[in-house]
Amino acid sequence: MSELGRIPFNRACFQGKELEYIAEAIANGHISGDGSFTKKCQQMLEQMLGVPKALLTTSCTHALEMAAMLLDIAPGDEVIVPSFTFVTTVSAFVLRGAVPIFVDIRPDTLNVDEAQLEARITARTKAIVVVHYAGVACEMDPILEIANRHGVRVIEDNAHGLTGKYRGHFLGTLGCLATQSFHETKNVTCGEGGALLINDPSLVERAEIIREKGTNRSRFFRGQVDKYTWVDLGSSYVPSDMLAAFLYAQLADIETIQRNRHRVWSFYADRLKDWAAAHGAALPAVPEWCEQSYHMFYLLLPTLAEREELIRKLRAQGVYAVFHYVPLHLSDMGRRFGGKEGDCPVTESVSDRLVRLPFYNELSEEAQRRIIAAMS
Ligand SMILES: *Cc1c(COP(=O)(O)O)cnc(C)c1O
Repeated sequence: MSELGRIPFNRACFQGKELEYIAEAIANGHISGDGSFTKKCQQMLEQMLGVPKALLTTSCTHALEMAAMLLDIAPGDEVIVPSFTFVTTVSAFVLRGAVPIFVDIRPDTLNVDEAQLEARITARTKAIVVVHYAGVACEMDPILEIANRHGVRVIEDNAHGLTGKYRGHFLGTLGCLATQSFHETKNVTCGEGGALLINDPSLVERAEIIREKGTNRSRFFRGQVDKYTWVDLGSSYVPSDMLAAFLYAQLADIETIQRNRHRVWSFYADRLKDWAAAHGAALPAVPEWCEQSYHMFYLLLPTLAEREELIRKLRAQGVYAVFHYVPLHLSDMGRRFGGKEGDCPVTESVSDRLVRLPFYNELSEEAQRRIIAAMS
């Protein structure tokens, strides 16, 4: 398909060896989970990030559900969450009976406002879930300090942030647990998939059980027990080794992926400075102590009307720009937990004004020039 036609918002990109590795998984005769490609992917994540344990999962959502079970989230527990995020950052905890306590974001990085966290902590608070929006880190030093002082666990929903860093530390290594997404829209993908990163080694054994339907099958396969049986809560969170084979082709070539995404991001940032100044728009804010993951490129327009007009204008020229999160505290479910207008003013305003431009590894400079030309 020519880029002279429609420019989609996202396009699945292939690194080249995906089919070869899937064929190898089939030839291995091991297409269920935890075959050789699953192990290779997990080792690669562990080595790349320096985490004690990485477990591939069927999605980031499922890794978040595992995190909620691992931390024994129970009915009535409170979990502090940003309102400006994907649904399952929150719903995974609500599924265990938690009450979501929504907190607003900073107007610069659009990450959870660490200055508002402490006021939200009560005797029922079990966890704080942070999202590194667009792969730019939350202010993890103060967040971890507040959490530690109150005995509250921190979970990083790092769906956007693989390879990103905060003050030299990889995102996903800072909370007791972190989750990755390998959905088609993320930097590294296998279509649908995810991972749970476990930074607290005391949680590893139970994580393996929860991921294996609540059984001790992993210990059985390692010869540590002589039969396997039902021992705890759990569900079916193990992806097929064919998907892991696809993922391995991408993870093994992550440097190429990141180089391409860096190029796409920088081209937009350089060429849109003047446009942004002329239109009163803001470019993404990346603090100097953060290395971002080049997950997306967004602009913040002055008003909802200007954002809608830009999306409409681009679409008329075949360019698919999109808005992003709708505030969760104002969703049908969020309102059932008491959410109302004005609770998170920055989230409400940003949600109206943010637009994401087409962004994928293989987006060409020619296409980016066309997108920028279509904006003016
Ligand atoms: C994509 C995404 C998820 C969900 O990922 P899945 O792998 O599709 O379950 C969760 N949180 C955030 C912040 C995301 O961007």
